[in-house]
Amino acid sequence: MSPAATSTHTPIFDGHNDTLLKLEIDAGAGRERDFFQRSQRGHMDLPRARDGGFAGGLFAMFVPSNPDQDFSKPFNPRDPANYAELPQPDALAFTHSLMARAFRLERASGGRMKICRNAAEIRSAMQQGQVAISLHMEGAEAIDGDFHALEVLYAAGLRSLGPVWSRKNIFADGVPMAFPSSPDTGPGLTSAGRALVTACNQLKILIDLSHLTEKGFWDVASITDAPLVASHSNAHALCASARNLTDRQLDAIRESRGLVGLNFHVAFLREDGQHRSATALDVIARHAAYLVERLGEDHVGLGSDFDGCMPPADLKDVSRLQYLLSAFRNAGMTDAMVEKIAWKNWLRVLEETQS
Ligand SMILES: [Zn+2]
Repeated sequence: MSPAATSTHTPIFDGHNDTLLKLEIDAGAGRERDFFQRSQRGHMDLPRARDGGFAGGLFAMFVPSNPDQDFSKPFNPRDPANYAELPQPDALAFTHSLMARAFRLERASGGRMKICRNAAEIRSAMQQGQVAISLHMEGAEAIDGDFHALEVLYAAGLRSLGPVWSRKNIFADGVPMAFPSSPDTGPGLTSAGRALVTACNQLKILIDLSHLTEKGFWDVASITDAPLVASHSNAHALCASARNLTDRQLDAIRESRGLVGLNFHVAFLREDGQHRSATALDVIARHAAYLVERLGEDHVGLGSDFDGCMPPADLKDVSRLQYLLSAFRNAGMTDAMVEKIAWKNWLRVLEETQS
């Protein structure tokens, strides 16, 4: 029997994972892994997703700067090669490989996974026990300035896009992984970036604010007609990473009826900004409580960053997600609030943005 079907599990729709990249990197290193078999590698496979009640999420397509990076080692945030700008044709080719991987996974799943184009499809997949995949692009390097690739990728299923990762491209600047640091680290959107926001609004593609500089955040806020969403970021007041959101940014997200997805990366959670997996789940619960207080309980979700982060040891992979929900309940959240954070708020914001 699938553990996901037991009544003790609250389903989870998660705003960010890098599992497609992790599978691609493993395959490139000659260690192709069967996603449908239980493994200890990476943070996710289908059996572990079922164990944790993971019902779906935004699956990122991210193109690393440095193809020579040793992906068996933790990401080195201080290596400048990891932030090098990417030529668009290279980024598009790699994005194709990640997107093709998603389509092959869906086909090989025999109905257990479904690539969804809108919130109604996600709801229906979740009801049928299919893992719902919403395709997200993390950093728009694959998109040309004339938006031909945007049209084609949209037609293929792209429904969410962050203009930048933590590096510069033709659309904007990204925030470095700096601590302690304000997110106001550089310029905002270029004219191409402004046009990208408008093009995404027209296509009903969600625009993700995570990784943007603070100036870029306000530029998007001044142009977009959609709720403001940061899919995987935390509260700067509790962890002064440049990747986190200031109170002013949180207020703007609340006013726009948007959402913040809680990121599980310890260096974006801990007050001291350290990369230490010995971090209690209470630390995530504290960010959740802070965001609920600042944004309201309808505007907080999850954005795990699984397969792209160092999570707390007690949340070492997707199978442990229900432990996090228990930590939320232990911190005083009601079941209704936990359900909103676990999936309902994401579905609401996708409904308002993508249709
Ligand atoms: Zn990210």
